Amino acid sequence: MSGTIICAPLTGLIRPLTDVPDAVFAGGMMGPGVAIDPVGDTLYAPFDGVVTALHAARHAVTLESADGAALLIHLGIDTVALGGSGIDALVAIGDRVSVGTPLLRFDLDRLVCAATAIVTPVIATNEGARIVSLATGFVTAGAPLFRLEHDGVAPAAVAGGEKTFRTVTVALPHGIHARPAAAIVAAARARQAIITLVHGDRRAAASSVTELLGLGVGTGAVIVVEAVGHDALAAIDAVAAVLVDATPETGIMAANLATAGDGPGLAGVPAAPGLAIGRAVRWHRTTIEVAARGEGVAAEMRRLDEALDQVRANLADEADAGGARGAIVAAHGAMLDDPALLAPIHADITTGASAAAAYRAGIAMQSALLADSGDARIAARVDDLRDLETRVLTAITGQVRARPVVPPGSIVVAADLLPSEVVALADAGVAGFVLAGGGPTSHAAILAAGAGRPMIVALGDAANGIAADSLLILDADRGRVEPSPSAARLAVAQARIDRAAAGASHDGTLAATSDGTRIELFANLGSRDDALAAVAVGAEGCGLLRTEFLFLDRAAPPDEAEQRAEYRAIADILGDRPMILRLLDVGGDKPAPYLSLPPEENPALGVRGVRVSLADPALLDAQLGAAIATGCRIMVPMVASLAELEAVIDRAVALGGTAGSIGVMVETPAAAMTADLLATRAAFLSIGTNDLTQYALAMDRGNPAVAAGIDGLHPAVLRLIAQTCAGAARHGTPVGVCGGLAADALAVPILLGLGVTELSMPPARLGAIRAVVRDVDMAAARNHARAMLDLPSAAAVRAAATRFAGDGE
Ligand code: PEP
Ligand code: MG
Repeated sequence: MSGTIICAPLTGLIRPLTDVPDAVFAGGMMGPGVAIDPVGDTLYAPFDGVVTALHAARHAVTLESADGAALLIHLGIDTVALGGSGIDALVAIGDRVSVGTPLLRFDLDRLVCAATAIVTPVIATNEGARIVSLATGFVTAGAPLFRLEHDGVAPAAVAGGEKTFRTVTVALPHGIHARPAAAIVAAARARQAIITLVHGDRRAAASSVTELLGLGVGTGAVIVVEAVGHDALAAIDAVAAVLVDATPETGIMAANLATAGDGPGLAGVPAAPGLAIGRAVRWHRTTIEVAARGEGVAAEMRRLDEALDQVRANLADEADAGGARGAIVAAHGAMLDDPALLAPIHADITTGASAAAAYRAGIAMQSALLADSGDARIAARVDDLRDLETRVLTAITGQVRARPVVPPGSIVVAADLLPSEVVALADAGVAGFVLAGGGPTSHAAILAAGAGRPMIVALGDAANGIAADSLLILDADRGRVEPSPSAARLAVAQARIDRAAAGASHDGTLAATSDGTRIELFANLGSRDDALAAVAVGAEGCGLLRTEFLFLDRAAPPDEAEQRAEYRAIADILGDRPMILRLLDVGGDKPAPYLSLPPEENPALGVRGVRVSLADPALLDAQLGAAIATGCRIMVPMVASLAELEAVIDRAVALGGTAGSIGVMVETPAAAMTADLLATRAAFLSIGTNDLTQYALAMDRGNPAVAAGIDGLHPAVLRLIAQTCAGAARHGTPVGVCGGLAADALAVPILLGLGVTELSMPPARLGAIRAVVRDVDMAAARNHARAMLDLPSAAAVRAAATRFAGDGE
């Protein structure tokens, strides 16, 4: 057991904890310690250490010393309610401090008037800590107060090491919302370090989902990740790996589809794709009534803990569902245990609130923080907090959640919907959702998409005009709902629904256009789970295995054996379906810590893709070796010249592979323009329209400021695709598309008309795209595609493509 001398953080009168008018402190529930009735206006560090937490209301600060002592200083009682007013923080989480460093400055008069008490508990929070008093009566700040005996184990073990930081540009397509926040919390928990994210003047502990959401970080934001502790560097790498993951998220509709199209009916914003016909059912949420005052602190604390245990167990069960639904539920689980959410709830209970009322108030406080973030996507996470509130209050009050009673096949019209309500309603068989509020990136939208139910959001007051029981055509691809449609409109919509259903049903026959032209329909994969999903929806193979999933968030690259095992596992799930493995596409803004790449001013134009592999022969050989052993095709990313392809082919052949299995990913304008040269050596070309669009239009795909302009149907991109197909055709080399355009129903006839014969997309889009392909007549598609190349803008192409689809009138 080691001992640490704790000096007085305040000048004032020492009092026993039992004098503190708060049962939690007085009863020793937080740990042993003393209290000080302060004079003066400054709270100082009581030992040399690190600030490990600083409450948003600045009334509570925790510190840890290098030898493992952990201390909480709680300035006054009920001061949380002041929301920081009258208290200034002079330090931040992660700061190293020495005994006597000023931590907080406060307005003593204001606290005396506004708080229940100003007496300040100084609490040892180490497990099994003991204190030996060294002073009584009046003490001066900095004088020894007590000796803290503890066993020096974590959490204090994190306090060693230097503070270090890194600036990161956030590539997450939707910024830090709940799922990435939960991933950051998980990454942070696994490390011996105290990690803080800084965005402008806002700071968040990496251990708190709600603090992370409160940062209001959107895609493209530049933030600083700070860490202190033995694992600081690894911790920063792990958190940065989450932040720079630009992988598009399944379920969130592409930005270029997320605007309402023209047509009859009411306009909203597309949130989950699809078309449905059904009768309107109006949906209202019932409020759970709760008592304001509790029945004693201990009873209410127990009630809260039991409810949290129950909800935690339910969420863990539901997270087993996997996929987007599992990820969202897991994020709710991380929010449930968020210390920043729970601290004020505990504080409220100690002042007499019932557990239910305290929980509701705590959620309201966190929701206000998110709503104030100034970012619509972060504000959309308020729904997740309200969902937690419903779960926890249901558990506390013992009310049984009734299954929603809605006739199957109806369309739910509501002000908004919580994620769990969407799941329950989808399970009850509703055909779609129309919301007055909501947002296209909300979890409700992602869950609707995952359940295959169309949803449009943000109708505003127009939603009130939809009469209960009226017949609706809900066209979520175009963001429109049409009440009481004519028989002719109904017939057109029904025909579209039938065609989509026919496409979704896969009887094992290979996809072809209406005139019998064979088109391969492949899936983009990034994990074994993706492979299972792809097989379930009838994918004919994998057109893009994003191997980065194996390389990010770790201290050393996977060796050949590990890669071989993982690729083999995915190939086994695919059975005899072909698999195209993309060589590593890291570098630039997707850092892998073990690659000693220098920071770059323009990461998208720097060392990424094949440039990384060619710069690190051992890395390339290990991946090629594993891919060759798996017997799959190999695709080279970010190629800009034939020499790069040839260098990879030479290495592969030296390792026992064959040139005939190696193809090129066409993502740079250079590759598109020289497709005829590449096709002399490439076994296939596959167009990555996500990157090709950003490089052709000189618009960063992760920058929200230019997001509205990034549309792969821009004539410039279409001309590059046409050039690629023409160049490849000269050598009989097949061309596929594995970027986002392959999943865009309006783009598919154009791509096929230009000569593309393979489409690879997220598994969830396969059914819809299969239906589109079956409808295409190749002669008409060729004429259509040629005409699109001459249009002046992406908008003009979309309008013409909608007319070509024949169902937009
Ligand atoms: C692309 O660029 O279109 C592509 C599929 O690759 P990624 O999105 O992984 O960069
Ligand atoms: Mg790419």
